[in-house]
Amino acid sequence: MSSPDFLPSLVGSLSVGAAGNPTVAMVEAAFRHHGLHWRYVNMEVPPAGLADAVRGARAMGFRGFNLSMPHKVAVIPLLDGLGESATLIGAVNCVVRRGEQLIGENTDGKGFLKSLQEVCDPRGKNIVMFGAGGAARAVAVEVGLTGPKQITIVNRDESRGTALADHLRERLALSVAFVPWCGDYSLPTDTDIVINATSIGLYEADVRLALSLDSLKPNMVVADVVFSPPQTRLLRAAAARGCRTLDGLGMLVNQGVIGVQYWTGVNPDPTAMRRALEEAMGI
Ligand code: NDP
Repeated sequence: MSSPDFLPSLVGSLSVGAAGNPTVAMVEAAFRHHGLHWRYVNMEVPPAGLADAVRGARAMGFRGFNLSMPHKVAVIPLLDGLGESATLIGAVNCVVRRGEQLIGENTDGKGFLKSLQEVCDPRGKNIVMFGAGGAARAVAVEVGLTGPKQITIVNRDESRGTALADHLRERLALSVAFVPWCGDYSLPTDTDIVINATSIGLYEADVRLALSLDSLKPNMVVADVVFSPPQTRLLRAAAARGCRTLDGLGMLVNQGVIGVQYWTGVNPDPTAMRRALEEAMGI
């Protein structure tokens, strides 16, 4: 019989439709690489079962868990507190057990920012971001905290776009413009960083984002949150025009790195994690 000390520390992923989640391979690769006796378990939890799942994770001593939509917002009242980013973003993708408390964090935007900062510092820059959903909110808050010159939000749904712009102005005192997205958007010439934070391109390599490609200039950094396929049509077009590009896999790996740091205190090797993720995705 194994003693309780021999049991692994558990973290999990609570998602709706959990089958084939490639992040399991990525996080487990980090545990193996660093000799950690931990396991990351994938669990399919329907919205109506979230409260029971969180109670179960508490009772079973889980050290934390990730969440996908729609759990990212619904989980908030079930937790004991929120970190600063999760409070500002209004969503939690990573729960961390600190003592007896379950604390909600948001690592999506931090993962994006870490990728971006490897190629440029957004402070003082002009940023154009497509999208105003959950990923856009997380990205805009973290990038906004660095002090960009201006963020221009381009979104199809005006009420969502306006709400995000108002939120960023009120909570972060940022200069933010909202542009309703009708037809091909032409980037202002002083744009430094372009971000696709919509789901356009997810699982569809050839779907087109409505952007006038002639407005892309080689000095611009173009980033996409879409991670599958990593080389979206936008990134391929931007690279062909000489722009530096950042794929969504970097963001996905980095949010995983931060999660492992929060849970275990170990700073994991992102290369081992990216390799495992790419293998699981068949890239
Ligand atoms: P949401 O549903 O919250 O938001 C989707 C956004 O995409 C909205 O702004 C929506 O616009 C826009 N959109 C979707 N389809 C179209 C279209 N045909 N034309 C114009 N706009 C469109 O999704 P999330 O924000 O949660 O996720 C967005 C993407 O981010 C997904 O691909 C997801 O996989 C990815 N993601 C990546 C992560 C990573 O680590 N790389 C982490 C988290 C998310 P509207 O408001 O007008 O409907």
